[in-house]
Amino acid sequence: MSNDNVMISKIPTPPKMAICYDFDKTLSPDDMQSFTLIPSFGIQASDFWKESNKRAMDKRMDKNLAWMYELTRHSVFNGKSLKREYFNAIGADVPLYKGVETWFGRMDSYAKAKGIELQHYIISSGLKEIIESSPIASNFEHIYASSYMYDADGVAVWPAQAVNYTNKTQYIFRIAKGIPEEYDERVNDSMDKSMLAIPYENIVYIGDSETDIPCMRLVKSKGGYSIGVFDPEKDNRRKVYQLYNDGRINFYAPADYTEGKDLARYVMEIIDAIAAQEKMKAEQQSLKRDADWYQLYRMIENQEGYLPESAKPRLEKLRNSLKEYINGKIE
Ligand SMILES: [Mg+2]
Repeated sequence: MSNDNVMISKIPTPPKMAICYDFDKTLSPDDMQSFTLIPSFGIQASDFWKESNKRAMDKRMDKNLAWMYELTRHSVFNGKSLKREYFNAIGADVPLYKGVETWFGRMDSYAKAKGIELQHYIISSGLKEIIESSPIASNFEHIYASSYMYDADGVAVWPAQAVNYTNKTQYIFRIAKGIPEEYDERVNDSMDKSMLAIPYENIVYIGDSETDIPCMRLVKSKGGYSIGVFDPEKDNRRKVYQLYNDGRINFYAPADYTEGKDLARYVMEIIDAIAAQEKMKAEQQSLKRDADWYQLYRMIENQEGYLPESAKPRLEKLRNSLKEYINGKIE
């Protein structure tokens, strides 16, 4: 006898999606160090970067470790202690592209109306301490960026994290697997697709340059969406055209986050697509339930052939009670 419309009730949790942003030249028009930090040491930003990149080449250093070293060196010259508060003060004044400050609320409401919980993450080579004190910091679930370790006097002495182009990708895995902390090596453990905190196809990556290529490529190849942005005023599209032709990105747009502009439209289209996919996944999940019960029923039936006669009635009873839970007839 079959039992019609057997439903297993579960408290529904909305499906999640994540937008991951590079920071410099993606949300903000220049490298964050260039605005106040470098000029405060009495040097031109261009000279600082020339010197830092030359050191990276001469000493075979990672470019991020080179600028982090360079900052501590200049702070000693200038008799200024590099403290967290000093970086935090700079973050409060970091300029943002048009529309960024209201972007998160707008996108969150749009996603919510579509039944999707939207999360935002930063994955940047810039300095975490600066981003953390920017006016948009509270919108992010997690800020992954380079940062310093501070001594007992609160002075930056050593890099705690140095985020470059390829190790940026580890954060995509952390977000998907729900293993957020940088020290947690379980991020390398294999995880079944059904166990992911956020499926890869629900991840969006927004970036502007070569350093974003590994993330753009990873996200796009796993079924997610990558977007290349360029400065709306400079309108130099060389990089995004190349990224698009090389198959690294799904969309490109000016870094203008205002309502009604291209970027908002593309992201809303992505949210629509993810909402439609999630609806289909939920339908399939409910179809899978009966199909799984049926598979179990058949497995028990097959095993019965291998058992002594005395054991058969118990298994048969189990099989028949299972049949009660399967919608429709299976004979
Ligand atoms: Mg950038």
